[in-house]
Amino acid sequence: MGPVITALEKLQAIERDLSQVRRRKKARMRAVKAQEARIEKHKLERDSLHQTAIERRKQADDLELTLRQNEEHIDKLRVTLNAAKTNKEYAALLTQINTQKADNAKFEEQALKVLGEVDGLKAQVAETDKHIEQEESRLTEINAGSAEEIEKLDTMLTKLQTQRDEAAGALPESILALFDRLSGQYDGEALAKVEVSGRRAPYTYTCGGCFMSLNAEHANALRTRDEVRQCDNCQRILYIDPSEG
Ligand SMILES: [Zn+2]
Repeated sequence: MGPVITALEKLQAIERDLSQVRRRKKARMRAVKAQEARIEKHKLERDSLHQTAIERRKQADDLELTLRQNEEHIDKLRVTLNAAKTNKEYAALLTQINTQKADNAKFEEQALKVLGEVDGLKAQVAETDKHIEQEESRLTEINAGSAEEIEKLDTMLTKLQTQRDEAAGALPESILALFDRLSGQYDGEALAKVEVSGRRAPYTYTCGGCFMSLNAEHANALRTRDEVRQCDNCQRILYIDPSEG
């Protein structure tokens, strides 16, 4: 194995570490975002409950107002009743009073029901507030832990980047460009090992990246020359373990 393939393998090992550290950093940042979204959802829920409680309260107030007005009306009817001149007039007023009373009983029942709903909604708002508080302290924890972890990961990234620059310096520009393109495409895995199978010649060869079969020509060339050869299917740069096949 020649210096070009050796340098590429080294670069690939660094690139793999870089990808892994970048993934860890991304996951950390996602955890913060997810927690923020969770809190936002609770806050929307809370606002909606609060709004409904205000509307119900207003409804209960309206019912109570109607109730009071009706009671005043009943009082007036009673005064008229006491001054009734005939039995017929008396009976008519009494019916009116009783009807009004029956209506009021319904209004009262309704108002109590709505007030009960208001209490229930208030309890839900308080519960949600407690929830938000818990989630916010959880966010503080996540943020603190993440800041520390992200700082550590950033240090690792800087170190790996320096190593990567060094390793990249050993390669011709065109090969490096090819490596970078493939590395981006295959998440840091620009190289693929030629897998050799069979006990004796003719051996069969497959690409360790995409598992498609490879011509023996690739393997023969890689054993004798320090050459960049790519899988015909996935285009990954091939390398071979000289002890195999
Ligand atoms: Zn392949």
